Amino acid sequence: TSFGFKEVPEEEKSRMVGDVFSSVASKYDIMNDIMSVGLHRLWKDRLVSKLSPFPGMQHLDVAGGTGDIAFRVLEAIHSLERQRISGVAVDEDAEDETRVFICDINPAMLDVGRRRAIAKGLGEARSLIWMEGDAEALKFEDASMDGYTIAFGIRNVTHIEKALSEAYRVLRRGGRFLCLELSHVDIPGFRDLYDFYSFSVIPSVGEIVAGDRESYQYLVESIRKFPSQEKFATMIKEAGFEKVEYENLAGGVVAIHSGFKL
Ligand code: SAM
Repeated sequence: TSFGFKEVPEEEKSRMVGDVFSSVASKYDIMNDIMSVGLHRLWKDRLVSKLSPFPGMQHLDVAGGTGDIAFRVLEAIHSLERQRISGVAVDEDAEDETRVFICDINPAMLDVGRRRAIAKGLGEARSLIWMEGDAEALKFEDASMDGYTIAFGIRNVTHIEKALSEAYRVLRRGGRFLCLELSHVDIPGFRDLYDFYSFSVIPSVGEIVAGDRESYQYLVESIRKFPSQEKFATMIKEAGFEKVEYENLAGGVVAIHSGFKL
């Protein structure tokens, strides 16, 4: 049943992605830390700092099952509110209206996130809303969101164009799209090292730590197939976004793409 290096029919892809994440959900955090040597935390911090969350914001984090991005967005807003409390006026209405929606296709990943929210004392937080859903067909109104993030998720979506046009649809004018994704290293020497790491080290670590070599082989192959930084930026523009730009982190191991709906 190896699907690491084979072309896969589209209808099978969604199901397999679901299976992959069910099987890795429980080991998800530890694998992220090992594979990225802890860097995924800094990359996620960077994504959220670019978003500049604000009290009253309506934010949608897609493929956000673990809550990693949503918790950071909420924390950024809370820290702004703390500054305001110690400073001048606090707009309490705006605080109450903050909503961070977490949408993920996989209930097992949403469970990981919900459990982590409880552990963080955010179990009852009205501002966090967990929803099962597909990035390609979002259950949100047109122009209902101030921000849209997707971290390490769009690579797994079957039709990237559909996910991008859905992101565009749900954002209001002035809203920002931000995507953090494993991308392409274009630095000779470093690229060879990274290829060795991806194709040899990651599947072995997946086997040893998560007991699942195949899933991690699939993840590595999906990184390889994902469009280059430039090509992905073009796709974002084609979805209607403006001021599209990207930032490479760790030499292009990951990239943050950004665009505005103007
Ligand atoms: N954003 C989280 C993070 O950065 O830690 C989780 C990333 S995880 C690698 C990828 C997530 O994408 C999984 O939770 C998976 O269920 C979700 N996913 C895959 N295809 C999806 C789709 N079509 N719509 C929504 N979520 C999807």
